[in-house]
Amino acid sequence: MSALATTLSVYADDAKLTGTVIGCAPNNNNNAAEKAFDGDLGTFFRGNYTDENYHRLWVGLDLGKEYVITKIGFAPRQDGDYAKRAVLSLFQGANKADFSDAMPIAMVREEYSKGEMHYIPVNVSRGFRYVRFMGVNGVKGSVAELEFYGHEGVGDDSQFFQITNLPTVAFNTPNMAQIMAKDDKHPGSTVYVISDDGKTLLYEANPKTQLKGRGNASWGMPKKPFQIKFENKQQILKDAPAKAKKWTLINNHGDKTLMRNHVAFEMSRLAGMAYTPYLRFVDVVYNGEYEGCYQLCDQVEVNKNRVNIEEIDINEETHEPYDPNADITGGYFLEVDGYANKENEGEWFSALHGGYPVPVTIKSPEDMLPTSQPYQWIKKHFEKFLASTLSIQAKTDISKIEDYLNIDSFLKYFIIGELDGNPDTFWSTYMFKPRGVDQFTVAPIWDVDLGFDNDNRHYPINTKYSGFIYEHGSQASAKYTEVVKRIVSENPDSKKRMKEIWSDLRYNHNYNTEHFNKLIDDAAAEINESQKLNFTRWPILNTLVHQNPEARGSFEAEVQFIKDYLVERFAKLDQLIGLEEPPAGIDDIIAGPTGPARYYNLSGVEVNADNLTPGVYIKVDSTGSKKVLVK
Ligand code: CA
Repeated sequence: MSALATTLSVYADDAKLTGTVIGCAPNNNNNAAEKAFDGDLGTFFRGNYTDENYHRLWVGLDLGKEYVITKIGFAPRQDGDYAKRAVLSLFQGANKADFSDAMPIAMVREEYSKGEMHYIPVNVSRGFRYVRFMGVNGVKGSVAELEFYGHEGVGDDSQFFQITNLPTVAFNTPNMAQIMAKDDKHPGSTVYVISDDGKTLLYEANPKTQLKGRGNASWGMPKKPFQIKFENKQQILKDAPAKAKKWTLINNHGDKTLMRNHVAFEMSRLAGMAYTPYLRFVDVVYNGEYEGCYQLCDQVEVNKNRVNIEEIDINEETHEPYDPNADITGGYFLEVDGYANKENEGEWFSALHGGYPVPVTIKSPEDMLPTSQPYQWIKKHFEKFLASTLSIQAKTDISKIEDYLNIDSFLKYFIIGELDGNPDTFWSTYMFKPRGVDQFTVAPIWDVDLGFDNDNRHYPINTKYSGFIYEHGSQASAKYTEVVKRIVSENPDSKKRMKEIWSDLRYNHNYNTEHFNKLIDDAAAEINESQKLNFTRWPILNTLVHQNPEARGSFEAEVQFIKDYLVERFAKLDQLIGLEEPPAGIDDIIAGPTGPARYYNLSGVEVNADNLTPGVYIKVDSTGSKKVLVK
């Protein structure tokens, strides 16, 4: 309020601006662009669209020179439900006649009553020559009346429009072209990342600044996932570890908490996985239309702050003659991948060790020929790993398979997949191999939207299955599931190691419901404003989407569900994996007891023995001896 008051007092002469009326084609002459500026609330602009699913219809003014806009007057179309439909429509400012540099400056956040003007304050310090109303899809560009107010000047870049408390990522493809497929690339795009309450702007609009789609199942949803590829490496937000060209915008359309990946990534960080992707919640504007709450995320690729291996130069390392013991040993970044055969030749292979093939996508290096030496080398090396792990039996010395596998990384990946309950854990498994190291390391965790009991094929996993979820989940191949089985259930040494890791995570690394409840509550608060807009844009809270087992009717109910799921899941894994006796450090927390047995949670806080919720506790009997109790 005070900022607005200041603006108005400094620019008391802010005037209603005039200019040349501009707009896209109307659906008929009665609804031409001028009707939005004729002072008559009964007449309106309405655009003409050719694609029912992609309107991008607009009307505005060419002001002739730059003005800093301070207020917008808006009146919705009076007939039908157009006032309601206009909610989430954006106003944009630009300095290029084709609006290729358009950025959002204000939003229609609520349903405005018909038959009167409504005034929306604008707090953007940059001046614009071109301003427009960009109607959200269903409104067909319709608006009864528009007014723009401001003062002349180019302004400055101290303040931009951030839709909610989250950063806003706004992008424009050339000519506002629709992104039609996941590999439909649009170079020459414009990308804005507005953060720090509108105080910080990242902007790139170069010939190679590119937008495209991404994803597999997620591309088929109405809210689309995207990939940004900058021409120059960018640190997209101040806390992003990597400076990189590629960044992803994950849609989370089937995940109505919008945060399943975020919660799983915390499990990965706490477990000390070799790499956990960067993730921030953002609002996305796609060619002037609000698309919802997304997760801005790393592209999973080789980078010193992502998958940190030395990348092979395939041109350098396929020349003849070569040293088979040196260059071609890596690094390699692979994905055991149920979708591998959709990749181009040279970008995947089918590994064989007896019977069923294992499909593997080569994420790095890219663009190899199947005949090239690195391609042949990595395929053979992976087959050695396969043979080694498939040879595991009860009496196998587990240290032998460590020739080809970092077992701890594998077991942590397995544990996280079981805790988040992601049935796709072994549909897609990322592994990398640094140069000169024979071992594969498993990382990162990725794509957990079906986890946390979000898959009707497995719901409810805590009671439907007595054992681990991996035995029932989607698998890249039967052979790879056999690899998992050999490691996690055939060999006492690896089972013992898994129990050690699980116990360490439970006792020492915040693997407990208190920590995750707080994480989830914090995220829910952070995205609260954005989720409301998201579910206005996509009213799906009462609809089954993708593999949803239930529609719980509200964001809050969806969030509560994953908290409840985790309480049960921690207890279940305590039983399935087992827990070691508590570490000595617990002694310092628990005061010596007297009298009857007492119970403590893993944070060392005493709990009431009469109503223990499912979980793991430390029972201290009257003699002071301690035991792990799993309830
Ligand atoms: Ca009018």
